[in-house]
Amino acid sequence: MKPFAFERARDVDHALSLAAASPGARFLAGGTNLLDLMKLEIEQPARLIDVGRLPLAEIAETAAGGLRIGALATNTAVASDPRVRSRYPALARAILAGGSVQLRNKATVGGNLMQRTRCPYFMDAAKPCNKRLPGSGCSAMEGLSRSLALFGASEMCVAVSPSDMSVALAAFDAVAETVRADGSVRRRPVETLHRLPGEAPQVDTDLAPDELVLAVELPPPPPGPQAWRKVRARASYTGAIASVAVAGDRVALGAVAARPWRARLAEAALADGASAAEAAAAELAHAEGPEGRRSLVRRITADAIREAREGAAS
Ligand SMILES: Cc1cc2nc3c(=O)[nH]c(=O)nc-3n(C[C@H](O)[C@H](O)[C@H](O)COP(=O)(O)OP(=O)(O)OC[C@H]3O[C@@H](n4cnc5c(N)ncnc54)[C@H](O)[C@@H]3O)c2cc1C
Ligand code: SF4
Repeated sequence: MKPFAFERARDVDHALSLAAASPGARFLAGGTNLLDLMKLEIEQPARLIDVGRLPLAEIAETAAGGLRIGALATNTAVASDPRVRSRYPALARAILAGGSVQLRNKATVGGNLMQRTRCPYFMDAAKPCNKRLPGSGCSAMEGLSRSLALFGASEMCVAVSPSDMSVALAAFDAVAETVRADGSVRRRPVETLHRLPGEAPQVDTDLAPDELVLAVELPPPPPGPQAWRKVRARASYTGAIASVAVAGDRVALGAVAARPWRARLAEAALADGASAAEAAAAELAHAEGPEGRRSLVRRITADAIREAREGAAS
């Protein structure tokens, strides 16, 4: 691992001023993604700004009837919160499907949203990868196809976001609140935090280097039942091959794009009275990539919609 400076932020302003003064610095929350990448020398920050002790772990009711979840709430705290479990069960299930108990005890909401792709070639410093080393090429194009993007990929990068939590958050229309060193606060849908790769796959999100995620805010859950499906290579300690969150009339897909993918074509088809299978087919008709992978995502999308509808009927 390359040498780096380490500073523990006293408060949010201190964290932001350190970030603004240190190009190439990174915020450190639970460390479960960043430290792994540093050990592999894929991330080589000159300075780590430890935000892990900032008072940003609260889960609170909002005036609108939703929940505001601090960026430093752990995955375990969110998934076990009784309000999340009763009103946003698809979110609790999505989180519990991620990593392992030990990881979820350390991993935070902000870190889960901002974690980097788990594309195997990104994680292997010996392989060409445009995200890690712009212009070096993309090993995934001719490599393993189990986790290629089906939507929004470019000729430069076909990697997907590994965050399960963000898929459910997108289905709930959650908003992320961020702040920069100049005091500017931004609120935008979780769905749009991540960029699609285009010509610059090395840039994952639209956050500035001195921009800290403060919280995510969930509006009241939409009426109707919820469902969550995830396909993965083994029962725990591994990311999704594909996932689906359903919340009322909304559907979001995971591990199919560089961001959580709202399946708006499926939603429109359902609004027009389509069956679960027809709605899933409407979304996947516009997918790229191997037919086996498209078929898998089509099937689990239809299954999740069906599960939610059967829940509504029972
Ligand atoms: C074996 C394994 C299996 C996994 N399986 C899954 C899975 O199935 N599903 C899933 O969703 N995840 C999975 N993960 C990923 C895990 O959930 C993430 O590593 C974790 O959520 C990251 O949170 P953290 O607090 O540890 O982030 P850190 O490692 O501390 O940070 C990650 C990134 O986020 C940035 N960051 C952190 N907090 C903030 C903030 N408040 N504002 C701005 N930037 C911030 C950091 O600078 C860094 O770039 C897995 C990880 C491992 C190691
Ligand atoms: S898909 Fe993206 S992250 Fe994976 S090797 Fe290609 S450029 Fe790198």
